[in-house]
Amino acid sequence: METIIKVNNLHKSYNSNHIPTDVLKGIDLEIKAGEFVSIMGPSGSGKSTLLYLIGGLETPSEGNIYINDQHFNIMNDREQSKIRQHSIGFVFQFYNLVQHLTVEENILLPVLLNGGKKKQYITQLEMLLEKVGLTDKRNSYPRELSGGQQQRVSIARALINSPKIILADEPIGNLDSKSGTEIMELFRDINQTLNTIIIQVTHNEKSAEYGNRILHVQDGKIA
Ligand code: ADP
Ligand code: MG
Repeated sequence: METIIKVNNLHKSYNSNHIPTDVLKGIDLEIKAGEFVSIMGPSGSGKSTLLYLIGGLETPSEGNIYINDQHFNIMNDREQSKIRQHSIGFVFQFYNLVQHLTVEENILLPVLLNGGKKKQYITQLEMLLEKVGLTDKRNSYPRELSGGQQQRVSIARALINSPKIILADEPIGNLDSKSGTEIMELFRDINQTLNTIIIQVTHNEKSAEYGNRILHVQDGKIA
């Protein structure tokens, strides 16, 4: 299988109160097309940091990240956001939906913000509404939905540009176990039918096992 993401000797340090803290201390990682990877580790071990570095939301202190053989971390903001837009979708623990927009408008937001037209994405929108089971809620607002349904909206939004990669930071961390299982089944379906790479951070053993590989972040490295 083709390598899509390659991470070499990745380091990240933060300065808090002028004291440097080394969060990641040399991460090496390769992720191939179609993989479903779970990242586990103690709270504060740098799981979110790793995800944000891979997605270009943070900059490494040292090391390199390649996406589709392109040297991602040395690109300028404009080049990075172009890759992000076409190749990477994000899913967060608290959904990050826009409250005054409908389900449909939230899903289309990445397209509309980029000057795209709803008309060109209507087939993709219908497909995704069907896939996440929200066709009948397309005109509802986030406050009218359960947590699980809101997370489904955010997953559809992450998929609107047909990215190869989904980065999900504790996607079921705020959900009851039944909704959590439904979300994990949805990720499995997306991984298998759309062949999207899923990289999820999770605290939950059961949800980690949806991955074909489990990585443990410990003391700044992959154990
Ligand atoms: P995890 O997701 O595994 O719980 P994080 O990646 O969120 O851990 O954070 C790892 C460590 O880095 C923590 O000690 C956290 O306080 C620190 N950290 C994360 N982001 C920042 C930041 N923007 N500035 C300073 N410290 C940060
Ligand atoms: Mg985190």
